[in-house]
Amino acid sequence: MQPELATLLDRCPDLPTPPGVALRVIALAQDPKADLNATADAIGLDPALAARILRIANSPLFASATRRPPETVSRALALLGLNAALTLALGFSLATTMRGGGQVAAAREQYWRRSVLSAMAARLLGEDAGLDRPEELMLAGLLQDIGALALMQVLPERYTLLDPGPPGLAPLARERTLFGSDHAEVGAWLAARWNLPAWLQDSIARHESGPWDGDAALSCVGGSGVVADLWMQAGTPEQLRALAAELERRTGLDGASTARLLERLSASAPELGALFDVRLDDPRDVRAVHGRVQELMVVRNLIEIRNAAVARRELEALKARTQDLTEQARRDPLTGAYNRLQLEEVLEREFRDALEHGRPLSIAFIDLDDFKRINDRHGHLVGDQVLQEFTRCLAGHLRQSDLLARYGGEEFLIVLGNCDAAAARVTLERILAEISRTPMALVDGVPLYITFSAGLASQGGGDGFASAQDLLRAADEALYGAKRDGRNQVAAPEG
Ligand code: GH3
Ligand code: MG
Ligand code: MG
Repeated sequence: MQPELATLLDRCPDLPTPPGVALRVIALAQDPKADLNATADAIGLDPALAARILRIANSPLFASATRRPPETVSRALALLGLNAALTLALGFSLATTMRGGGQVAAAREQYWRRSVLSAMAARLLGEDAGLDRPEELMLAGLLQDIGALALMQVLPERYTLLDPGPPGLAPLARERTLFGSDHAEVGAWLAARWNLPAWLQDSIARHESGPWDGDAALSCVGGSGVVADLWMQAGTPEQLRALAAELERRTGLDGASTARLLERLSASAPELGALFDVRLDDPRDVRAVHGRVQELMVVRNLIEIRNAAVARRELEALKARTQDLTEQARRDPLTGAYNRLQLEEVLEREFRDALEHGRPLSIAFIDLDDFKRINDRHGHLVGDQVLQEFTRCLAGHLRQSDLLARYGGEEFLIVLGNCDAAAARVTLERILAEISRTPMALVDGVPLYITFSAGLASQGGGDGFASAQDLLRAADEALYGAKRDGRNQVAAPEG
């Protein structure tokens, strides 16, 4: 902490100060040898505090701890434990010593409401997390932001500049720019001055900055302030959502559990308000809390719906991408025709289908004639262009259901489903005639024509092949025949 601020705090006449009785209770609470009777005696010096301790021990808030209503302070202490006594001694006495006008009176009132709610929230969060020592949590929840109160007292004008905005206290970073310190640090400093137990000093120092995971008690304390903010702040859905997200970050509580916690906090508000002498039970407040709980659930649902939509979109994009990649892996990059991998898969499938259903199937092996000469004369780029244009034209003459694959180099294979030998020949001869009069490229403005040779093989009718590979071999042989007989023609196996 900056020395300047420490001096101010040191000299401030109206810092929150526990009265003598509370200080005595603090000392006794830390003395392992001190017995409850000594503490009861100390508390007995302050009749208002003694009455309050009795009331709390008898209150429904502590019903689970109370079997028989305690009648004496020492019995009440035995039931509640010293930390509960401390909570009350500090909570009540600090609030009363700080009462009065002043520029930040309203902020101070608000601060106490928030502290009392935090105390209860810390206790409820602790119950949910299965932690024992609820009174310790309550005390830590109550005092976590005591530093903010000190800052309010010591530099009230500057404190009003903080403008915490809807989600409760201002962020620590903003406090640090204004004060050169933050309420966690100042609170820990105060707690050390009051000789509060070390765990309590530590919890005050760390409640806003965590790390919360791994320290269940601290996460309850850190979360309790946020619960109090949720209870108190009207806020826009965005602000509520930010608070709910912060609570989830600190405690792991989801929207539904948060809503339930707020309902329980609401239920205990009248009793809590009476015990700590702050107004919490305004019916309008409680109704507003219900509204906020509902809003929170709605916001939560919206978030879930939005998350689901985002996830769905991402999944669809991923599917599309996978499909793209799969399609890419099946295609020849130069011509866009299917590659050999895909050809083999489809041919095997079509062959089995044709056999099974007794349907005809034809394939054609196609090889461009004298293609080497095109490369030699015009260069490989023109050769590539011819291969691309040839593929485009050929595909244009085929049915949607036919498969066109580049077998390699300037060799292609077409699979014609449900097509017998005669129909295949007619089709191929028509395509050859079309293609041979279509320019495949322009070289210096001169059109370039090509022809091809095709070897046909058909399954069905008279011919029966044992496998797709046999069919392929027959087509290859027929192609060889076409080449041998002078190219620019379609040939079928002899026989
Ligand atoms: P034939 O009529 O006997 O089939 O003669 P051809 O010249 O077409 O046959 P050959 O197998 O001798 O030559 C094929 C040529 O195709 C050789 C090779 O460089 C060329 N080629 C193979 N793949 C590509 C390619 O992707 N791009 C280009 N530009 N040329 C290719
Ligand atoms: Mg060849
Ligand atoms: Mg060739």
